Amino acid sequence: MNLHEYQGKELLSSFGVRIQRGIVAQTADEAVEAAKKLTEETGTGWHVIKAQVHAGGRGKGGGVKLAKNLEDVKALSGQIIGMDLVTPQTSAEGKRVHQVLVAEDVYYPGDSEPEEYYMSVLLNRANGRNMIMYSTEGGMDIETVAEETPHLIFTEEIDPATGILPFQARKIAFNLGLSGAAFKDMTKFVSALYTAYVKSDSSLFEINPVLKTSDDKILAVDAKVSLDDNALFRHKDLAELRDLREENPIEVEAGEKGLNYVDLDGNVGCMVNGAGLAMATMDLIKQAGGDPANFLDVGGTADAARVEAAFKIILKDPAVKAILINIFGGIVRCDRVAQGVIDAYKNMGNIEVPIIVRLQGTNADVAKELIDNSGLDVLSATEFQEAADKVQEVLA
Ligand code: GDP
Ligand code: MN
Repeated sequence: MNLHEYQGKELLSSFGVRIQRGIVAQTADEAVEAAKKLTEETGTGWHVIKAQVHAGGRGKGGGVKLAKNLEDVKALSGQIIGMDLVTPQTSAEGKRVHQVLVAEDVYYPGDSEPEEYYMSVLLNRANGRNMIMYSTEGGMDIETVAEETPHLIFTEEIDPATGILPFQARKIAFNLGLSGAAFKDMTKFVSALYTAYVKSDSSLFEINPVLKTSDDKILAVDAKVSLDDNALFRHKDLAELRDLREENPIEVEAGEKGLNYVDLDGNVGCMVNGAGLAMATMDLIKQAGGDPANFLDVGGTADAARVEAAFKIILKDPAVKAILINIFGGIVRCDRVAQGVIDAYKNMGNIEVPIIVRLQGTNADVAKELIDNSGLDVLSATEFQEAADKVQEVLA
């Protein structure tokens, strides 16, 4: 589950990570009130207005603007709230902005230039350890840095038994070229950040930029926080931060029905039991020249009700031109699944796309007979390849 920037920053702050302070606003008037309040608290007269959507690259897309007075705050917030923000990380239609974060300007001039760094905390899956990735080249595309100057990205692995050790925090501050007060502040920042990551059961923190202000303070200007869904049961307060407006509506509905569904770009709807078989099915569709419209794991109990729910979900995607059902009947017997498919098909009454069903396992022969004799526009297949080829035939 992803958090908005303002939520991520609140989470960080609650663990003692210094952040660029801000107040979230739903309207331009609220934004002005927020700016006044921030001025009282921080003394800043300048503010940044930041679109709150679940996508990076907002700056490039015009979703982050500097306001030098309250008129600017009002005008810029009014522009940004309600816009469809297009960034390198959104679709061409963009993402509708429902709220902005009004934040204190932290790039004020001073004795030294503000510096932007990159820092993330994530799991290294190769050895099962968390690591901190960081770079002096913050504020811009870290992907470009990784591609063109990979030697400028450092990683520090953390032993789960000890957590982050003081020498590791100092090494990071040193590699970022810091000294004096900024060095000390960075060691505190890094340690607090790592603690926040572990304690919140997050799967990704990405802070870009981490800023060294002109008066040598280290703080988080941006925060991308992804929480581990499997650990949300022990973070009820964090689970409540979910913003369904940011998620794919079909995926949300599938989740409510207990179906594991991921929306994709192709035109072949897939209904499969088991994530592994679902992946293999998508591969085979691709190999046969098709393009999967979704990943869908219906789970262990493929009865009529579940099959019908899955059909409905798949058909919500207007791009779907054929559906491939690929189910292995082990404990669920194939004939029961076949009956489920037939019942669901009849119940729905208006399925206009061809359906190819491949059932393998217990009572597969009985299942094929049921499908073939059902009188419905459903093609059966016994072999995996045969099923994928039939999909191509109906699409041709
Ligand atoms: P992203 O583009 O979605 O990653 O959004 P960020 O939160 O990283 O903001 C984009 C850019 O806005 C940053 O890289 C900064 O250059 C700029 N920015 C953020 N906060 C301030 C601020 O307080 N003052 C100024 N002048 N610029 C800021
Ligand atoms: Mn950023």
